[in-house]
Amino acid sequence: MFVYLDNAATTKPCAEAVQSAISAMTENFGNPSSLHRVGLDAQLAVDNARKIIADSIGAESNNIIFTSGATESNNLALRGICSAYGRKRRKIVASSVEHASVEETLSALEKSGFEIVRVPPGDDGRFHFADFVKSCDENTVMITMMYVNNETGYILPVKETFSAVKRKYPDIITHTDCVQAYMKIPFRANTLNADLISLSGHKIHAVKGVGALYIKKGVRVLPIATGGKQEKGIRSGTESVPFICAFGSAVEKYSPTIKERYEKVSALKSHLLENLSGIDGISINSVDDASPYVINISVGKRSEIMLHFLESKGIYVSSGSACSKGQQSGVLKQFGISDKNADSALRISMTAETTEKELDEFAKALREGIETIRG
Ligand code: PLP
Repeated sequence: MFVYLDNAATTKPCAEAVQSAISAMTENFGNPSSLHRVGLDAQLAVDNARKIIADSIGAESNNIIFTSGATESNNLALRGICSAYGRKRRKIVASSVEHASVEETLSALEKSGFEIVRVPPGDDGRFHFADFVKSCDENTVMITMMYVNNETGYILPVKETFSAVKRKYPDIITHTDCVQAYMKIPFRANTLNADLISLSGHKIHAVKGVGALYIKKGVRVLPIATGGKQEKGIRSGTESVPFICAFGSAVEKYSPTIKERYEKVSALKSHLLENLSGIDGISINSVDDASPYVINISVGKRSEIMLHFLESKGIYVSSGSACSKGQQSGVLKQFGISDKNADSALRISMTAETTEKELDEFAKALREGIETIRG
């Protein structure tokens, strides 16, 4: 049996993405910066992918900078804005549940003298846009807020927050990490009121090692690496043409079906929850209106032990966030989940290709694990 339910960690590349990468490695292998025909062909392939990705969020091609992944996009967004605008305005407002690639960057900026205000959920366990607006002031350079939380699927009120912040403080730069929302929830850069958006390839059936940063026209991002001035000088380094082509192909494939897939995965989530409701000792940590792609549950047994028990049955899930290698990130605590429940948390993350049968196998193995694992 092979049941892969860890798609928030990474997804299997689709055939189209793999084929594009192979073509770019075997045929179209030029350096986009070369002035001859071979280079130009590579540049055209990169620009084709750029247009597909731009279109997918209602942007223009020249708004898209390719990076090595969302970790780099998030670093570039935060550090690049602070370098460009952070001499006088020294405060950053963020949600308290950001991915490590944002949170650790904020900590580094904090050490270099920026004030970081981390806005937690309210007593009801939910994020409220008014709390973010209240934390902003004339000294705030930027606000960063992920769209979908990678550990629980919680959907943060990005649009409401950014719109309200921009109304009151038009100069504050808005950044959102859309890694777990992209190709799963439809959004446009403009309607989100986002100046910067981070995207990743490997979460959407492209490949690891490629991402993008959307930068709204007129917003200045200073580079974090200097070099050959590729990507308009914002991200130097020879573009990974094969990975960029794979990214473009995956977006081209999945863009037209975002809504259908959302509905399909919502039905899968209902099926799973119904199955789980028949098993004693399980609590659901994700809220009802979370992204259906990510479901966080507590199972009453240590996450790692359960994870390996499930693995022995050929079922693959995650304990908390895959990026933290089993270490608790503290994000579940922010959502009001007790330490004990966080210790036994599992994350199940699906795709539209997940089947009810696979979820049934998971639920069956989980029940067995709960009954047989001691402690
Ligand atoms: N942001 C979120 C919300 C994520 O889930 C991840 C990966 O887990 C990242 C950023 C980092 O993306 P990448 O692996 O492309 O660097």
